[in-house]
Amino acid sequence: MIQKSFYSQEDLVAHIKTGTPTLYHSSQTSTVIPYEKMNGVLGDKTVLGNLSTIQGSMEILPSGDLRVNHFVTWKEAKEFCLSHNREIMTSPTEELAGVLAGVATSCTGERSFGFKNLRSQILELTYLDYSGVEKKLHSDKKLEFIFDLKKYQKDFFHYKDFKNAPFPRMEFETDLMTGTEGQLGIITSCVLKTIPHQAETYIFMLLPKWEENMLPHLELFKAVQSFRTRVFACEFIDSNSLSYLPLEKNPGKNQDVLFLEIRKNDFESIYEDLLSQLTLVSEDQIFEMDATKCRDLRVSVPRAIFEVNSRMGVTKKGTDVQVSPAYFESLLLFYRELGLSGVPYNLFGHFGDAHLHFNFMPDPTKNDFCNEKLEELYKKVLEWNGSPFAEHGIGFLKKKFITSFYGPNQLSLFTHLKKEFDPKKQFFPEGFMSC
Ligand SMILES: Cc1cc2nc3c(=O)[nH]c(=O)nc-3n(C[C@H](O)[C@H](O)[C@H](O)COP(=O)(O)OP(=O)(O)OC[C@H]3O[C@@H](n4cnc5c(N)ncnc54)[C@H](O)[C@@H]3O)c2cc1C
Repeated sequence: MIQKSFYSQEDLVAHIKTGTPTLYHSSQTSTVIPYEKMNGVLGDKTVLGNLSTIQGSMEILPSGDLRVNHFVTWKEAKEFCLSHNREIMTSPTEELAGVLAGVATSCTGERSFGFKNLRSQILELTYLDYSGVEKKLHSDKKLEFIFDLKKYQKDFFHYKDFKNAPFPRMEFETDLMTGTEGQLGIITSCVLKTIPHQAETYIFMLLPKWEENMLPHLELFKAVQSFRTRVFACEFIDSNSLSYLPLEKNPGKNQDVLFLEIRKNDFESIYEDLLSQLTLVSEDQIFEMDATKCRDLRVSVPRAIFEVNSRMGVTKKGTDVQVSPAYFESLLLFYRELGLSGVPYNLFGHFGDAHLHFNFMPDPTKNDFCNEKLEELYKKVLEWNGSPFAEHGIGFLKKKFITSFYGPNQLSLFTHLKKEFDPKKQFFPEGFMSC
């Protein structure tokens, strides 16, 4: 494997023209690409190409929407929009990830509950094709190529309300680069919808441990579905995840927490309306929490888990499953079974979207056992018509699990796309489209 950094678009175009097989990357926060051991994963002649060295830039367009060129992180984009009194609607937990990489991975985050996925916020984008020519794609133009997309789109239809299906949507032009993980070209810019900024706050709730009594959780899950127009995020952190935080940062006492991001002006009305629908969560367990504190808590948990794991030599075995609301209880029951297996675990994530990350924290002797359990989970997810990887993508690490979700309609489109958009097999040739 050869490492290479690019410092300008011209630099990148010159490299593309050589046709060298390359895995391009930006912040390397992907949890499905093992960046720490790429030597054994990529071929000797394959390039690991760094796009984060190309200076990025941003612009608020007259419409109020945000244009991002080259490498810009979500944190920078968020702050830039706020300085113009605007807000972006996607908020991935890892804010140091790149915005364009976010398009490539169809990244989502807590705000998908109220604002849907990033795919629905992309207005246009540009990309470099296999001959190094920059092309523009629009989100309001239907995809047109000789391949008949009807069967593929029919399969996708079942997943239309999921954050990400097991395979990317292929309906509008911008879908070509959204969630295709850099296998069809290199994204150089995008325009994202934004909204006017308004002050926000959080409704914070303490719940019993889900393993011991999940009835309040299920009641809340049902109740919040009717609040989607007023609640932007509905996030959950269980007591096991919170135990990784220093004591003074842990808001629960051996309890789970759930929080809702809302407009500050809506606090009273949402609080009253929600309370009137709950019988299993008492008023004294619900309170307001400052937005900065809540956000800090949400970001600290995955980071603390990551740090402890690195210290202890533990490789987290995590899930990224989203199910339809009808199967949420089945998913929680399945996770409870996994939790009884004796391997340390935790659960957190995007509760309102029935999309929780269950993580095994095995010592190396338990790795095979955990892999077997995850295989069982993916069989169930297939049975439930759920999405096995609704957020973090496929990369290398999830490839072996995704194949059972593909049939001839998916595989034949992938083959067609790779032939048409990557005839020299230079864009992430080991990606899921070559399963
Ligand atoms: C603590 C933590 C929390 C996370 N939370 C979330 C979350 O809330 N939501 C979420 O969706 N993900 C989350 N992730 C996963 C990760 O942050 C996302 O997948 C993110 O989009 C990756 O961005 P990156 O800049 O690190 O990309 P990289 O890891 O550098 O690359 C990821 C993929 O994008 C492709 N790519 C990168 N740039 C381009 C480009 N310009 N053109 C074409 N392809 C490109 C690469 O080829 C690669 O396949 C989290 C990860 C961590 C560690």
